[in-house]
Amino acid sequence: MTPEELLAYDKEHLWHPYTSITLPLSVYAVESAAGVRLRLTDGRELIDGMASWWSVIHGYNHPLLTATLQEQAGRLSHVMFGGLTHEPAVQLARSLVDITPAGLDLVFFADSGSVAVEVAMKMAIQYYHGAGKPAKKQFLTIRSGYHGDVFHCMSVSDPVNGMHSLFTGVLPEYFFADKPQCAFADEWRDDDIVSFSELIERHHHELCAVILEPIVQGAGGMRFYHPEYLRRVRALCDQYDVLLIADEIATGFGRSGKLFACEHADVVPDILCLGKALTGGYMSLAAVLTKRIVGEMISKGDPGVFMHGPTFMANPLACAVAHASVQLLLESNWQEQIKAIEQKLEQGLAPCRDLATVKEVRVLGAIGVVEMREAVDMASIQPAFVEKGVWVRPFGRLVYVMPPYCMSTEDLQSLTGAICQVLAEEQQL
Ligand SMILES: *Cc1c(COP(=O)(O)O)cnc(C)c1O
Repeated sequence: MTPEELLAYDKEHLWHPYTSITLPLSVYAVESAAGVRLRLTDGRELIDGMASWWSVIHGYNHPLLTATLQEQAGRLSHVMFGGLTHEPAVQLARSLVDITPAGLDLVFFADSGSVAVEVAMKMAIQYYHGAGKPAKKQFLTIRSGYHGDVFHCMSVSDPVNGMHSLFTGVLPEYFFADKPQCAFADEWRDDDIVSFSELIERHHHELCAVILEPIVQGAGGMRFYHPEYLRRVRALCDQYDVLLIADEIATGFGRSGKLFACEHADVVPDILCLGKALTGGYMSLAAVLTKRIVGEMISKGDPGVFMHGPTFMANPLACAVAHASVQLLLESNWQEQIKAIEQKLEQGLAPCRDLATVKEVRVLGAIGVVEMREAVDMASIQPAFVEKGVWVRPFGRLVYVMPPYCMSTEDLQSLTGAICQVLAEEQQL
Protein backbone atom coordinates (compact mmCIF):
# COMPACT_ATOMS: atom_id res chain seq x y z
CA MET A 1 0.00 0.00 0.00
CA THR A 2 1.23 3.50 -0.70
CA PRO A 3 0.89 5.94 2.20
CA GLU A 4 -1.92 7.66 0.29
CA GLU A 5 -3.85 4.40 -0.21
CA LEU A 6 -3.40 3.53 3.43
CA LEU A 7 -4.77 6.85 4.65
CA ALA A 8 -7.61 6.81 2.13
CA TYR A 9 -8.79 3.35 3.26
CA ASP A 10 -8.40 4.35 6.90
CA LYS A 11 -10.55 7.42 6.35
CA GLU A 12 -13.33 5.38 4.77
CA HIS A 13 -13.39 2.36 7.08
CA LEU A 14 -11.63 2.76 10.40
CA TRP A 15 -12.86 4.18 13.67
CA HIS A 16 -10.32 6.01 15.80
CA PRO A 17 -10.81 6.78 19.50
CA TYR A 18 -13.54 9.31 20.16
CA THR A 19 -13.91 10.43 16.55
CA SER A 20 -16.61 11.31 14.10
CA ILE A 21 -17.09 9.39 10.87
CA THR A 22 -18.59 12.34 9.06
CA LEU A 23 -16.20 15.02 10.30
CA PRO A 24 -12.92 13.11 10.50
CA LEU A 25 -9.78 14.85 11.73
CA SER A 26 -6.48 14.08 10.07
CA VAL A 27 -4.67 10.95 11.13
CA TYR A 28 -1.00 10.26 10.51
CA ALA A 29 0.39 6.89 9.47
CA VAL A 30 3.29 5.62 11.55
CA GLU A 31 5.75 3.41 9.74
CA SER A 32 8.00 2.58 12.71
CA ALA A 33 9.19 3.99 15.99
CA ALA A 34 12.40 3.88 17.99
CA GLY A 35 13.40 5.55 21.23
CA VAL A 36 11.25 8.66 21.63
CA ARG A 37 10.62 9.12 17.88
CA LEU A 38 7.69 8.13 15.70
CA ARG A 39 8.55 7.77 12.01
CA LEU A 40 5.68 8.60 9.67
CA THR A 41 5.22 6.89 6.30
CA ASP A 42 6.09 10.19 4.62
CA GLY A 43 9.52 10.09 6.28
CA ARG A 44 8.88 12.76 8.92
CA GLU A 45 9.97 12.07 12.49
CA LEU A 46 8.08 13.25 15.53
CA ILE A 47 9.29 13.49 19.12
CA ASP A 48 6.59 11.65 21.06
CA GLY A 49 5.28 13.55 24.07
CA MET A 50 2.46 11.10 24.79
CA ALA A 51 4.29 7.78 25.35
CA SER A 52 1.24 6.33 23.60
CA TRP A 53 -1.06 7.30 26.46
CA TRP A 54 1.27 6.76 29.42
CA SER A 55 2.45 3.33 28.34
CA VAL A 56 5.77 3.51 26.46
CA ILE A 57 7.96 4.37 29.45
CA HIS A 58 11.23 2.94 28.05
CA GLY A 59 10.80 4.31 24.52
CA TYR A 60 9.78 2.43 21.37
CA ASN A 61 11.45 -0.71 20.10
CA HIS A 62 13.63 -1.19 23.13
CA PRO A 63 16.15 -3.92 22.19
CA LEU A 64 15.65 -5.91 25.40
CA LEU A 65 11.86 -5.82 25.31
CA THR A 66 11.71 -6.65 21.62
CA ALA A 67 14.10 -9.59 22.13
CA THR A 68 12.08 -10.84 25.11
CA LEU A 69 8.91 -10.80 23.06
CA GLN A 70 10.53 -12.58 20.12
CA GLU A 71 12.03 -15.23 22.33
CA GLN A 72 8.75 -15.84 24.15
CA ALA A 73 6.89 -16.08 20.81
CA GLY A 74 9.26 -18.87 19.81
CA ARG A 75 8.34 -20.84 22.94
CA LEU A 76 4.73 -20.14 23.91
CA SER A 77 2.58 -17.30 22.60
CA HIS A 78 -0.56 -18.25 24.40
CA VAL A 79 -2.17 -20.93 26.47
CA MET A 80 -5.42 -20.87 28.43
CA PHE A 81 -5.01 -19.97 32.11
CA GLY A 82 -7.77 -22.25 33.35
CA GLY A 83 -5.92 -25.11 35.02
CA LEU A 84 -2.58 -24.20 33.44
CA THR A 85 0.19 -21.80 34.42
CA HIS A 86 3.56 -20.66 33.06
CA GLU A 87 6.74 -18.96 34.11
CA PRO A 88 6.06 -15.51 32.57
CA ALA A 89 2.86 -15.18 34.64
CA VAL A 90 4.51 -16.37 37.84
CA GLN A 91 7.61 -14.21 37.40
CA LEU A 92 5.53 -11.14 36.67
CA ALA A 93 3.18 -11.78 39.59
CA ARG A 94 6.16 -12.14 41.89
CA SER A 95 7.65 -8.80 40.74
CA LEU A 96 4.31 -7.05 41.17
CA VAL A 97 3.75 -8.45 44.66
CA ASP A 98 7.31 -7.38 45.56
CA ILE A 99 7.12 -3.77 44.32
CA THR A 100 3.54 -2.78 45.18
CA PRO A 101 2.56 -1.60 48.68
CA ALA A 102 2.84 -4.32 51.34
CA GLY A 103 -0.06 -6.72 51.76
CA LEU A 104 -1.21 -6.82 48.13
CA ASP A 105 -0.39 -10.50 47.70
CA LEU A 106 -2.91 -11.84 45.19
CA VAL A 107 -2.72 -11.08 41.47
CA PHE A 108 -5.50 -11.34 38.89
CA PHE A 109 -4.38 -10.69 35.29
CA ALA A 110 -6.78 -8.97 32.92
CA ASP A 111 -6.45 -7.92 29.31
CA SER A 112 -7.00 -4.17 29.53
CA GLY A 113 -7.35 -1.40 32.06
CA SER A 114 -11.12 -1.24 31.74
CA VAL A 115 -11.42 -4.95 32.40
CA ALA A 116 -9.14 -4.58 35.44
CA VAL A 117 -11.47 -1.91 36.86
CA GLU A 118 -14.47 -4.17 36.28
CA VAL A 119 -12.64 -7.02 37.99
CA ALA A 120 -11.81 -4.80 40.97
CA MET A 121 -15.45 -3.70 41.28
CA LYS A 122 -16.67 -7.30 41.11
CA MET A 123 -14.13 -8.29 43.76
CA ALA A 124 -15.51 -5.66 46.13
CA ILE A 125 -19.10 -6.87 45.63
CA GLN A 126 -18.14 -10.52 46.09
CA TYR A 127 -16.05 -9.63 49.16
CA TYR A 128 -19.04 -8.25 51.06
CA HIS A 129 -21.23 -11.06 49.79
CA GLY A 130 -18.75 -13.49 51.35
CA ALA A 131 -18.62 -11.36 54.49
CA GLY A 132 -22.37 -11.75 54.93
CA LYS A 133 -23.12 -8.10 54.06
CA PRO A 134 -24.78 -8.47 50.66
CA ALA A 135 -26.39 -5.02 50.89
CA LYS A 136 -22.96 -3.46 50.36
CA LYS A 137 -22.74 -3.31 46.56
CA GLN A 138 -22.71 0.38 45.68
CA PHE A 139 -19.67 2.51 44.83
CA LEU A 140 -18.46 5.94 45.86
CA THR A 141 -15.98 7.91 43.77
CA ILE A 142 -14.89 11.49 43.15
CA ARG A 143 -15.79 13.80 40.29
CA SER A 144 -13.32 14.42 37.48
CA GLY A 145 -12.17 10.81 37.53
CA TYR A 146 -11.67 8.43 34.64
CA HIS A 147 -11.74 4.65 34.92
CA GLY A 148 -12.28 3.36 31.39
CA ASP A 149 -14.86 3.12 28.63
CA VAL A 150 -16.97 0.06 29.38
CA PHE A 151 -20.23 0.52 31.26
CA HIS A 152 -19.21 -0.01 34.87
CA CYS A 153 -15.99 1.92 34.38
CA MET A 154 -18.04 4.74 32.86
CA SER A 155 -20.43 4.63 35.78
CA VAL A 156 -17.64 5.71 38.15
CA SER A 157 -16.00 8.15 35.69
CA ASP A 158 -16.94 11.82 35.77
CA PRO A 159 -20.66 12.09 34.95
CA VAL A 160 -20.26 15.28 32.90
CA ASN A 161 -17.10 14.43 30.91
CA GLY A 162 -18.43 10.91 30.48
CA MET A 163 -21.80 12.10 29.12
CA HIS A 164 -23.77 10.03 31.63
CA SER A 165 -26.93 11.80 30.51
CA LEU A 166 -26.67 10.00 27.17
CA PHE A 167 -26.70 6.64 28.94
CA THR A 168 -29.33 7.31 31.58
CA GLY A 169 -31.24 4.15 32.41
CA VAL A 170 -28.40 1.96 31.21
CA LEU A 171 -25.54 3.09 33.46
CA PRO A 172 -25.76 2.22 37.12
CA GLU A 173 -25.92 5.39 39.23
CA TYR A 174 -23.30 5.58 41.94
CA PHE A 175 -22.23 8.25 44.40
CA PHE A 176 -19.94 11.14 43.45
CA ALA A 177 -18.11 13.34 45.92
CA ASP A 178 -16.92 16.78 44.82
CA LYS A 179 -13.54 16.70 43.17
CA PRO A 180 -10.63 17.55 45.47
CA GLN A 181 -9.77 21.26 45.39
CA CYS A 182 -6.44 21.34 47.25
CA ALA A 183 -3.73 20.86 44.66
CA PHE A 184 -0.77 18.58 45.27
CA ALA A 185 1.53 21.31 46.61
CA ASP A 186 -1.15 23.52 48.22
CA GLU A 187 -1.64 23.99 51.92
CA TRP A 188 -4.10 21.28 53.07
CA ARG A 189 -7.57 22.51 54.04
CA ASP A 190 -9.88 20.25 56.05
CA ASP A 191 -12.96 21.39 54.14
CA ASP A 192 -11.66 19.59 51.05
CA ILE A 193 -12.79 16.23 52.40
CA VAL A 194 -16.24 17.33 53.62
CA SER A 195 -18.24 16.27 50.57
CA PHE A 196 -16.58 12.85 50.53
CA SER A 197 -16.92 12.25 54.25
CA GLU A 198 -20.61 13.22 54.25
CA LEU A 199 -21.34 10.73 51.47
CA ILE A 200 -19.47 7.83 53.03
CA GLU A 201 -21.06 8.53 56.41
CA ARG A 202 -24.55 8.58 54.93
CA HIS A 203 -24.21 5.60 52.59
CA HIS A 204 -21.64 3.22 54.05
CA HIS A 205 -24.27 0.52 54.73
CA GLU A 206 -24.72 0.15 50.99
CA LEU A 207 -21.13 0.87 49.88
CA CYS A 208 -18.72 -1.94 49.06
CA ALA A 209 -15.91 0.26 47.75
CA VAL A 210 -14.52 3.66 47.04
CA ILE A 211 -12.77 3.79 43.70
CA LEU A 212 -10.44 6.61 42.72
CA GLU A 213 -7.22 7.48 40.95
CA PRO A 214 -4.67 8.26 43.67
CA ILE A 215 -3.15 11.80 43.48
CA VAL A 216 -3.32 12.16 39.68
CA GLN A 217 -6.71 12.30 37.99
CA GLY A 218 -5.86 11.44 34.39
CA ALA A 219 -8.22 11.59 31.43
CA GLY A 220 -10.94 13.15 33.61
CA GLY A 221 -9.07 16.43 33.92
CA MET A 222 -5.32 15.93 34.47
CA ARG A 223 -5.50 17.21 38.05
CA PHE A 224 -3.01 16.60 40.88
CA TYR A 225 -4.63 16.59 44.32
CA HIS A 226 -3.32 16.68 47.87
CA PRO A 227 -1.90 13.51 49.48
CA GLU A 228 -3.80 14.36 52.66
CA TYR A 229 -7.04 13.86 50.72
CA LEU A 230 -6.01 10.29 49.99
CA ARG A 231 -4.97 9.68 53.61
CA ARG A 232 -8.37 10.90 54.78
CA VAL A 233 -10.14 8.67 52.27
CA ARG A 234 -8.18 5.67 53.55
CA ALA A 235 -9.04 6.50 57.17
CA LEU A 236 -12.74 6.96 56.35
CA CYS A 237 -12.83 3.68 54.41
CA ASP A 238 -11.39 1.93 57.47
CA GLN A 239 -13.78 3.69 59.82
CA TYR A 240 -16.86 2.75 57.78
CA ASP A 241 -15.79 -0.70 56.57
CA VAL A 242 -15.59 0.13 52.87
CA LEU A 243 -12.85 -1.21 50.56
CA LEU A 244 -10.52 1.21 48.78
CA ILE A 245 -9.80 0.53 45.11
CA ALA A 246 -6.83 2.51 43.78
CA ASP A 247 -6.85 2.81 40.00
CA GLU A 248 -3.16 3.26 39.18
CA ILE A 249 -3.58 2.29 35.55
CA ALA A 250 -2.18 5.68 34.49
CA THR A 251 0.04 6.49 37.48
CA GLY A 252 1.71 3.13 38.06
CA PHE A 253 5.42 2.49 37.38
CA GLY A 254 6.95 5.81 38.30
CA ARG A 255 5.00 8.36 36.29
CA SER A 256 4.10 10.63 39.23
CA GLY A 257 7.59 10.50 40.77
CA LYS A 258 6.82 7.53 43.04
CA LEU A 259 6.69 3.97 41.79
CA PHE A 260 2.98 4.04 42.69
CA ALA A 261 1.07 7.26 43.38
CA CYS A 262 -0.39 5.82 46.64
CA GLU A 263 3.13 6.14 48.05
CA HIS A 264 2.80 9.95 48.04
CA ALA A 265 0.37 9.45 50.92
CA ASP A 266 1.77 6.18 52.32
CA VAL A 267 -1.59 4.61 51.71
CA VAL A 268 -2.18 0.93 50.97
CA PRO A 269 -5.37 0.27 49.01
CA ASP A 270 -7.34 -2.97 49.38
CA ILE A 271 -7.42 -3.45 45.63
CA LEU A 272 -4.96 -1.98 43.12
CA CYS A 273 -5.45 -1.77 39.34
CA LEU A 274 -2.44 -1.60 37.03
CA GLY A 275 -2.26 -1.36 33.25
CA LYS A 276 -0.93 1.04 30.61
CA ALA A 277 2.86 1.09 31.38
CA LEU A 278 2.78 -2.49 32.68
CA THR A 279 4.21 -3.94 29.45
CA GLY A 280 6.28 -0.87 28.60
CA GLY A 281 3.67 -0.17 25.93
CA TYR A 282 4.26 -3.39 23.98
CA MET A 283 0.85 -4.94 24.40
CA SER A 284 -2.38 -4.75 26.30
CA LEU A 285 -2.20 -6.24 29.78
CA ALA A 286 -3.54 -5.24 33.16
CA ALA A 287 -3.36 -6.62 36.66
CA VAL A 288 -5.50 -6.37 39.77
CA LEU A 289 -3.76 -6.93 43.09
CA THR A 290 -5.56 -7.48 46.34
CA LYS A 291 -5.07 -8.64 49.91
CA ARG A 292 -5.31 -12.27 50.89
CA ILE A 293 -8.26 -11.48 53.17
CA VAL A 294 -10.23 -10.21 50.16
CA GLY A 295 -9.50 -13.41 48.28
CA GLU A 296 -10.42 -15.55 51.26
CA MET A 297 -13.69 -13.77 51.86
CA ILE A 298 -14.64 -14.08 48.17
CA SER A 299 -13.83 -17.78 48.32
CA LYS A 300 -15.97 -18.26 51.43
CA GLY A 301 -19.11 -16.83 49.86
CA ASP A 302 -21.41 -18.40 47.35
CA PRO A 303 -20.38 -19.57 44.64
CA GLY A 304 -16.99 -20.02 46.32
CA VAL A 305 -14.99 -18.68 43.37
CA PHE A 306 -14.24 -15.31 41.87
CA MET A 307 -16.52 -14.93 38.87
CA HIS A 308 -14.14 -13.81 36.11
CA GLY A 309 -11.80 -15.43 33.59
CA PRO A 310 -10.78 -13.71 30.36
CA THR A 311 -9.86 -15.86 27.36
CA PHE A 312 -6.47 -14.19 27.09
CA MET A 313 -5.85 -14.05 30.83
CA ALA A 314 -2.13 -13.85 31.68
CA ASN A 315 -1.11 -14.04 28.03
CA PRO A 316 2.51 -15.30 28.09
CA LEU A 317 3.78 -12.79 25.51
CA ALA A 318 2.33 -9.91 27.49
CA CYS A 319 3.52 -11.28 30.83
CA ALA A 320 7.04 -11.91 29.54
CA VAL A 321 7.43 -8.43 28.13
CA ALA A 322 5.83 -6.91 31.24
CA HIS A 323 8.25 -8.75 33.51
CA ALA A 324 11.18 -7.53 31.40
CA SER A 325 9.80 -3.99 31.44
CA VAL A 326 9.43 -3.95 35.23
CA GLN A 327 12.99 -5.29 35.67
CA LEU A 328 14.28 -2.67 33.23
CA LEU A 329 12.54 0.06 35.22
CA LEU A 330 13.84 -1.15 38.57
CA GLU A 331 17.40 -1.41 37.22
CA SER A 332 17.27 2.11 35.74
CA ASN A 333 17.74 5.34 37.65
CA TRP A 334 14.08 6.18 37.06
CA GLN A 335 13.78 8.48 40.09
CA GLU A 336 16.48 10.77 38.70
CA GLN A 337 15.06 10.56 35.19
CA ILE A 338 11.60 11.57 36.39
CA LYS A 339 13.03 14.37 38.57
CA ALA A 340 14.95 15.70 35.58
CA ILE A 341 11.88 15.51 33.33
CA GLU A 342 9.82 17.29 35.99
CA GLN A 343 12.32 20.17 36.09
CA LYS A 344 12.55 20.43 32.31
CA LEU A 345 8.78 20.35 31.88
CA GLU A 346 8.41 23.00 34.59
CA GLN A 347 11.01 25.25 32.94
CA GLY A 348 9.95 24.55 29.38
CA LEU A 349 6.21 25.05 29.89
CA ALA A 350 6.53 28.08 32.20
CA PRO A 351 6.35 30.62 29.31
CA CYS A 352 2.83 29.35 28.52
CA ARG A 353 1.69 31.03 31.76
CA ASP A 354 2.04 34.40 29.98
CA LEU A 355 -0.50 33.51 27.30
CA ALA A 356 -3.98 34.98 27.77
CA THR A 357 -5.51 31.74 26.51
CA VAL A 358 -3.81 29.66 29.23
CA LYS A 359 -5.55 29.08 32.54
CA GLU A 360 -2.91 27.08 34.38
CA VAL A 361 0.34 25.18 33.87
CA ARG A 362 1.04 22.29 36.24
CA VAL A 363 3.68 19.61 36.41
CA LEU A 364 4.06 16.52 38.58
CA GLY A 365 6.68 13.88 37.96
CA ALA A 366 6.85 13.18 34.23
CA ILE A 367 3.45 14.74 33.56
CA GLY A 368 3.11 18.26 32.16
CA VAL A 369 -0.25 19.95 31.69
CA VAL A 370 -1.24 23.24 30.09
CA GLU A 371 -4.88 23.88 30.87
CA MET A 372 -6.45 26.31 28.41
CA ARG A 373 -9.42 28.57 29.09
CA GLU A 374 -11.30 27.18 26.08
CA ALA A 375 -11.21 23.85 24.26
CA VAL A 376 -8.46 23.81 21.65
CA ASP A 377 -9.27 23.58 17.95
CA MET A 378 -8.05 20.09 17.09
CA ALA A 379 -8.32 20.69 13.34
CA SER A 380 -5.66 23.39 13.49
CA ILE A 381 -3.60 22.49 16.54
CA GLN A 382 -2.85 18.87 15.64
CA PRO A 383 -1.22 19.65 12.27
CA ALA A 384 0.59 22.57 13.92
CA PHE A 385 2.30 20.20 16.37
CA VAL A 386 3.22 17.79 13.59
CA GLU A 387 4.68 20.69 11.58
CA LYS A 388 6.93 21.45 14.56
CA GLY A 389 8.08 17.81 14.71
CA VAL A 390 6.35 16.75 17.92
CA TRP A 391 3.49 14.42 18.77
CA VAL A 392 1.15 16.05 21.27
CA ARG A 393 -2.50 15.04 21.38
CA PRO A 394 -4.65 17.49 23.36
CA PHE A 395 -8.19 16.84 24.48
CA GLY A 396 -10.72 19.52 25.31
CA ARG A 397 -8.99 22.29 27.22
CA LEU A 398 -5.95 20.16 28.06
CA VAL A 399 -2.66 20.19 26.24
CA TYR A 400 -0.55 17.68 28.09
CA VAL A 401 2.50 15.47 27.79
CA MET A 402 3.87 12.42 29.57
CA PRO A 403 7.04 11.54 27.66
CA PRO A 404 8.96 8.26 27.74
CA TYR A 405 11.37 8.37 30.71
CA CYS A 406 14.39 8.13 28.41
CA MET A 407 13.72 11.46 26.67
CA SER A 408 16.88 13.60 26.47
CA THR A 409 17.09 17.16 27.73
CA GLU A 410 17.34 18.39 24.14
CA ASP A 411 14.24 16.54 23.03
CA LEU A 412 12.35 17.76 26.09
CA GLN A 413 13.32 21.31 25.17
CA SER A 414 12.13 20.79 21.60
CA LEU A 415 8.88 19.32 22.89
CA THR A 416 8.06 22.07 25.38
CA GLY A 417 9.33 24.75 23.00
CA ALA A 418 6.96 23.49 20.31
CA ILE A 419 4.05 23.56 22.76
CA CYS A 420 4.76 27.16 23.76
CA GLN A 421 5.14 28.22 20.12
CA VAL A 422 2.03 26.45 18.88
CA LEU A 423 -0.12 27.80 21.73
CA ALA A 424 1.20 31.32 21.05
CA GLU A 425 0.44 30.98 17.34
CA GLU A 426 -3.03 29.54 17.99
CA GLN A 427 -3.70 32.58 20.18
CA GLN A 428 -3.14 34.83 17.16
CA LEU A 429 -5.70 32.95 15.02
C1 LIG B 1 -6.62 4.33 30.63
C2 LIG B 1 -7.25 4.15 31.95
C3 LIG B 1 -8.19 3.15 32.17
C4 LIG B 1 -8.68 2.23 31.09
O1 LIG B 1 -7.68 1.43 30.55
P1 LIG B 1 -7.86 0.78 29.08
O2 LIG B 1 -6.65 -0.07 28.93
O3 LIG B 1 -7.93 1.91 28.12
O4 LIG B 1 -9.12 -0.02 29.12
C5 LIG B 1 -8.71 3.02 33.45
N1 LIG B 1 -8.33 3.84 34.44
C6 LIG B 1 -7.41 4.81 34.26
C7 LIG B 1 -7.00 5.67 35.41
C8 LIG B 1 -6.84 5.02 33.00
O5 LIG B 1 -5.97 6.00 32.82
